[in-house]
Amino acid sequence: MIDPSRRNFLKTSAGAAGLCFIGPSAVVHALSADEPEHPSGKLVPFPLASVRLALSIFQEQEEINARYLDSLTVDRLLHSFRLTAGISSSATPYKGWEDPTCELRGHFAGGHFLSAVALASASSGNTDLKSRGDELVSGLEACQKKIGTRYLSAYPTDLFEHLAQGKPVWAPFYTYHKIMAGLLDMHLLTGNTDALQIAEGMGQWAHEFMWTFSTEQRQRMLRNEYGGMNEVLANLAAVTKKDRYIEAAHLFEQPSFLDPLAERRDELQGLHANTHVPKIIGAARMHEVTGDRRYREIAEYFLAEVLTARNYVIGNTSLNEHWNTPPDKLGGTLAWANAECCVAYNLMKLQRHVFSWTADTRWMDAYERALFNCRLGTQNAQGLKQYFFPLAAGYWRAYNSPEESFWCCTGTGVEEFAKFGDTIYFRRGSDIYVNQFIASTLDWKDEGLVLEQVTEFPRERGTTLKIRSSRPAPRTIHVRIPHWTTEEARVKVNGRPLEAMADPGSYLAIRKTWQDGDIISVSLPMELRQEPLPGDDSVTAALYGPLVLAADLGAGPPDGPTRVIHSGDTSPKNLPPPDPLPKVAASPDADTKQWIQVDFPSEPRFTVAGESAKYQLMPMYQIGDQRYSVYWQMQSSKKQS
Ligand SMILES: [Zn+2]
Repeated sequence: MIDPSRRNFLKTSAGAAGLCFIGPSAVVHALSADEPEHPSGKLVPFPLASVRLALSIFQEQEEINARYLDSLTVDRLLHSFRLTAGISSSATPYKGWEDPTCELRGHFAGGHFLSAVALASASSGNTDLKSRGDELVSGLEACQKKIGTRYLSAYPTDLFEHLAQGKPVWAPFYTYHKIMAGLLDMHLLTGNTDALQIAEGMGQWAHEFMWTFSTEQRQRMLRNEYGGMNEVLANLAAVTKKDRYIEAAHLFEQPSFLDPLAERRDELQGLHANTHVPKIIGAARMHEVTGDRRYREIAEYFLAEVLTARNYVIGNTSLNEHWNTPPDKLGGTLAWANAECCVAYNLMKLQRHVFSWTADTRWMDAYERALFNCRLGTQNAQGLKQYFFPLAAGYWRAYNSPEESFWCCTGTGVEEFAKFGDTIYFRRGSDIYVNQFIASTLDWKDEGLVLEQVTEFPRERGTTLKIRSSRPAPRTIHVRIPHWTTEEARVKVNGRPLEAMADPGSYLAIRKTWQDGDIISVSLPMELRQEPLPGDDSVTAALYGPLVLAADLGAGPPDGPTRVIHSGDTSPKNLPPPDPLPKVAASPDADTKQWIQVDFPSEPRFTVAGESAKYQLMPMYQIGDQRYSVYWQMQSSKKQS
């Protein structure tokens, strides 16, 4: 517990001349779904182009991803689009979900790829990938013109007709959404105006197509996965200021899904996770574009519910892509097919929206949890991505092949690893929020301010913020003090310790006239703790600060069909059953320090003396080829009903 006297921030001065210490904003803590938006207005992220990563694991991973994107060629990506438009193509098509026979073809080739190269261009100034994106947009424009109805896809409209007729079809609007989103990203992030025109045409086609059906028929069609059609149409409305796209977005809403959430009821059991998270992102965007608070309440309730009642410790959810249990009942659900990677991508996207309304650290803590534990580590050295995130003991990471898989998670993966700079810093007015501890430089040209973040976090337990200012001005810099740190957390300004400190789980607000050369030093001690699996206290995971720890269970399989999957399948064939969870001779309520020994806190490395073996532990994101276990079987076997 924090000493209550340390909570009395407003009465405390920092002691340094010219430094006005505000402390954490109590109003931020008080916000909930029932209360007004943050009174000072919405936070917004800094544009990607104003944030550059510095040398770190994030920059290294960004570069690996860029090399993978660079290995893909425009003619091959365009192949199925061209054939659909009646334009000849002799290119060799990609395989897996981009195979010319797959009903999802085009989702990556004309969608995720465009988003990823647009993000890479804005994040790192990668002009080669921007040119690749421009070339692809030109090719898509030619296809749309040849078709002549504003429709654009890598398959003909037959699949949409099948959808309308109730015939079996995979998910035509899911793919349509990805293409529209890719085009909008090319417009918003790289300024490609042709891309906006193509996306508008696609939006108009979708509007007119859906408009022809009765409400009942439309609701039947919406039982089929449709990605974030509501989101991309709301985005199109925001960019073009045209109400017709809001009307179109309303046609992609499902009261049967949204109404229980508006009434704060978790009826998620049985639903496909990655079908439904994007619908909530769409609701979040509808709140932002229309001002309708009901959408916000839906988004906040959904996110809080998934986070507390349905998430695994790594910050992601789902088994076999679904929510299979009632809330808070994840006992017995550890398997190979846990936590589809796309779901983490989409939950993090939603966390950014909800954070921007509330400035609540909870969402940036959750973002960090997912970023370090189920995004970092899901790309290998060749830029290949995971689909599932196995959480049963004894399994390993498996990846898509470079040209023969093209899963949804390949797509969201190439986007994720191109946009690490998008959440580090937000702003509200002249205030800056430092949300994530990633070595980087924020260049706020309009304000003549450069903020350089120097850190080796999480190896280093803290960060340093260096200010360069050509026009010193009073402003507040808010630094996230994460929930996982201790009351020993400290902040210094120009070497002088602040006498007061924010609680873990809040933002520390420091207001002063920032001068060129000012330095903020943040120390964030980490400690061991544990979190039970929701619904089964006898199964526990260990954490060190924000890092989920995994036991190294020895070498995994070499590269081969159980490691790199050369098909559209998302799991290796002939998987062995999982191992039993490693057992620990400690009760579920034991102090974590009693059963985990810290060996090298800087790496960090740990040891657990299990009942039948000794285990070495490391952060999950550092697990590469090994078999691993994230969860432990504690001594007590009592299970909650
Ligand atoms: Zn996926």
